Amino acid sequence: MRQALGGPRLLLRRLREVMSEQMSAQARLDKIVVLIASNMVAEVCSVYVKRADGALELYATEGLNREAVHLTTMRADEGLVGLIAREAQPLALADAQNHPAFSYKPETGEEIYASFAGVPVLRAGNTLGVLVVQNRAKRIYSEEEMEALQTTAMILAELVAGGELEALARPGSGGTAIRRALTLNGQTIAEGVGLGHVVLHEPRIEIRNLLADDPQEELRRLNAAMEKMRASIDDLMEGGSLGGAGEHRDVLETFRMFAHDRGWIRRLQEAINTGLTAEAAVERVQSDARARLLRQTDPYLRERLHDLDDLANRLLHELTGAAFTLPADKLPENAILVARAMGPAALLDYQRHRLRGLVLEEGGSTSHVAIVARALGIPSVGRVEGLVGLVEQGDAIIVDGTAGEVQVRPSADVQSAYAEKARLRARRQEQYRALRDQPARTKDGVSIDLQMNAGLLIDMANLDETGASGIGLFRTEILFMVASSLPRAQAQEALYRSIIDIAGRRPVTFRTLDIGGDKVLPYLKQLEEENPALGWRAVRIGLDRPALLRTQLRALLAAAKDRDLRIMLPMVSVVEELDAAKAMLGRERERQRRLGQPGPKTVQLGVMLEVPSLLFDLDRVFEKADFISIGTNDLMQFMFAVDRDNAMVSNRFDPLHPSFLRALGQVADKAKATGTPVSICGEIAGRPAEALALIALGFRSFSVSPSGIGPFKAMLQGLEIAAVEPMVREGVAVGLDAPALRQKLKPFLPKGELAS
Ligand code: PEP
Ligand code: MG
Repeated sequence: MRQALGGPRLLLRRLREVMSEQMSAQARLDKIVVLIASNMVAEVCSVYVKRADGALELYATEGLNREAVHLTTMRADEGLVGLIAREAQPLALADAQNHPAFSYKPETGEEIYASFAGVPVLRAGNTLGVLVVQNRAKRIYSEEEMEALQTTAMILAELVAGGELEALARPGSGGTAIRRALTLNGQTIAEGVGLGHVVLHEPRIEIRNLLADDPQEELRRLNAAMEKMRASIDDLMEGGSLGGAGEHRDVLETFRMFAHDRGWIRRLQEAINTGLTAEAAVERVQSDARARLLRQTDPYLRERLHDLDDLANRLLHELTGAAFTLPADKLPENAILVARAMGPAALLDYQRHRLRGLVLEEGGSTSHVAIVARALGIPSVGRVEGLVGLVEQGDAIIVDGTAGEVQVRPSADVQSAYAEKARLRARRQEQYRALRDQPARTKDGVSIDLQMNAGLLIDMANLDETGASGIGLFRTEILFMVASSLPRAQAQEALYRSIIDIAGRRPVTFRTLDIGGDKVLPYLKQLEEENPALGWRAVRIGLDRPALLRTQLRALLAAAKDRDLRIMLPMVSVVEELDAAKAMLGRERERQRRLGQPGPKTVQLGVMLEVPSLLFDLDRVFEKADFISIGTNDLMQFMFAVDRDNAMVSNRFDPLHPSFLRALGQVADKAKATGTPVSICGEIAGRPAEALALIALGFRSFSVSPSGIGPFKAMLQGLEIAAVEPMVREGVAVGLDAPALRQKLKPFLPKGELAS
């Protein structure tokens, strides 16, 4: 067996010199292949770079016919080079031509070489190219040589990722794969279109020094960083702030397991021994692991990739001292934040006016950060798998929150199409803003009470901006969800007071905590439930754990001093729950009086109608409640038995179905007969066709999300109730199907740009 001349260490030293010299990209690549070939005593060394179309193009060679450079390409499924790229695994063969994947390219003149060794050029687990050496004689490449090739491939990865090779690409080939345009799909979090540049919430650590002279020193640095990292994980686990059990602990246990994994540590040490710095070794081992795990189909193993990424990141931070997250005040203009996951508080820290969008790998539409993103009106998409590994800081990116789509490095055509879409949307928003001070009144003079839904202090600014007449639904649990610990009575009182103060003379309807189901408070122990939507939630928790509800009622009563207070109970299933809550409220008012504390001017206690059982007890509900608000999101969920958060079924049934409209019509009729006020606060009220049908059924009070106010008012302006009412009522009476009713409503809806 022939031994490499000078060994890997000498090769790396020479490579470092080549990297620091001033020369063209092609000249640098040409020098690199000559160096590798001579160091490894190989007759051939070639670099293939993966192009945007997936093919692997020969970018440089020593030993093969030079005329073939930028001419020879291998399809992704072709030859040994294609195989290495696909599998992201090194391959060494003493007799390459007899391998079933071997593919002969006559223009290269490679028929005379028997042995072949190739390694993938990897970055963050993605294959950017392939580095190959070949020998005439049949030979076995040593493990040490393969290691050296992999380390060299890492340097090539930096060259490709740095963009230096873009200019070399064959005209019309679309450039290297790393610059490839991508369309990624996810889940809508917040509507709207945002164009800008990638800003990684957790910036990747730039490793400036790949190569080191003193492996002993690097091993010492690695050990020290490992120790620190292990200690910080142990601290987290023993800190007690995790509440003993649950998901966080599982993740940390996995962390601890990896942090003590001898295989992982050995691979890091080996990488350092090939001449890498400690941080470059972490990156290389991580990239190999990513490449392997990305090809796994087992979801459990793929999930481990995140844990490993986190661990490698922690280690890199320990080694380089870099900050974990981007300092919030360092946000550039037109930023599109990209993160695997993010807490709501972190998002609130960024300067809103510089943010154009948010894309997350993990956050679903009900995550806490999603709630804040919606409140801030930032176009956002969640559940975009693998995103962080596919983008680089500063890449052009477009977020289409409405379609749940992300365009990474879009072409000029795509960019201008989206820019047009964003302009149109902005113009429409402008038109809606112009309606702000106009009364919410139909063309035939019927006034509609149009309020908005809110859940955070930042939402309150929308009252003035939209011209809503009040807050018809204040979801208090959202305040609790974004807090880091359970807000105490005083803190709650201060929050409620600020909300009432901002609203001024406009009414605010506070809904008591609607937790449980998908709304989880991070600091409260969560029960494992088979069917959380039907589980221990909302008013059920409030009545079973009276301290929670009592504290909230007390804080509301104190905050509303001398003003009108409206409180509403979520998820009431039977009227007795209203009775129990009313008794509790009575005791709290009595206590307030006894202590001589000033109370609200008036207190009204309402019920959310969102569980179908109440529909069959309307007489008693209307008699006992001061007002009713229909939560159509949950009412639809329970009436049609469709999980509102399951995209497979959530849109399966149309709210204009006669069964649903008939139920709502009965509630409207009962309200008219009894004089008990009723309003609608579910999402359907924010859609013009649905709102039109609801007005026709007799509803006159609505609470919609802030973005729904403009379209609602635009719809009102052209509406003559007398024209639609008989049509809708008759349709419901005869059981007209939803598509037919929609068709009939169409002529009454705004056309052109004002149609939402
Ligand atoms: C509803 O269920 O319709 C509603 C308004 O409440 P939430 O969406 O908060 O459950
Ligand atoms: Mg609800």
